[in-house]
Amino acid sequence: MEQRTQGILLKTNDVGEADQVVNVFSLDHGRMVFRARGAKRSKRRFAGLLESFSHHEIVFQPGRGGRWPILLRLEPIEMHTTLRGDLGAFSAASYAVELFLKLTKEGDANPRLFQLLSTFLTYSTQQPLSPKGLCRFHLRILTDLGFQPNWNHCMECGRLFGKESFFHFDLAQGGLLCQTCLPPQSRTTRPLRIATQRLLSQLQKQQSLNSLAVRPWNDALLLLNLRTDHLLHGPPQSRNFLYQMNASLPQDSNPHPS
Ligand SMILES: [Zn+2]
Repeated sequence: MEQRTQGILLKTNDVGEADQVVNVFSLDHGRMVFRARGAKRSKRRFAGLLESFSHHEIVFQPGRGGRWPILLRLEPIEMHTTLRGDLGAFSAASYAVELFLKLTKEGDANPRLFQLLSTFLTYSTQQPLSPKGLCRFHLRILTDLGFQPNWNHCMECGRLFGKESFFHFDLAQGGLLCQTCLPPQSRTTRPLRIATQRLLSQLQKQQSLNSLAVRPWNDALLLLNLRTDHLLHGPPQSRNFLYQMNASLPQDSNPHPS
């Protein structure tokens, strides 16, 4: 029996002599892996639609007995062809796709994440990536995956972030620690300035943030990059390319420059 869902293509690999395996982030089932029969042998089989970043109505036959579902047809909604002609936008889209491939689990439905990816791809075709845009994307993906940092309290003693207190962000646990609760010689904590804490807290509550200086955005981006690297046990492969292709991203917010 045929089923349908909307999905964005993340990656395609060859398998066997004639087929391809297609990774998709879908609206209804989260990340899915399909077998596309004959797609390697004949590009016409899917009419050239098996392109990364493209958004489709997907028609498939569910997998049985642990097998991959079979991709039957793609009905294109948005091909995002402009992403392939602009290196800045292409690097942003590649980075987003790598994070989706590595941070999401197969079969974990998450319509908010689907919406985030769709919006980010469209955004990337319309304007150059800014520290602000990348911060928002990182914080949303972490939040929607359930790694929701609390930017207002010490996660040990519950103390509120105040004017005089100096806080630290724990990359391993994804929360704040006050000076008193900071373990000695901790390797996974980074100091957090008040302006950055305030920005991240407001960003998470989706408050409007138009009058902020550049520095807190750069610091916030560095922190979110480090937190992501901790979750992935290393930096995403496409990050250096992203920074090389987007001059507006501050180099010192890339924790692992090439
Ligand atoms: Zn504390």
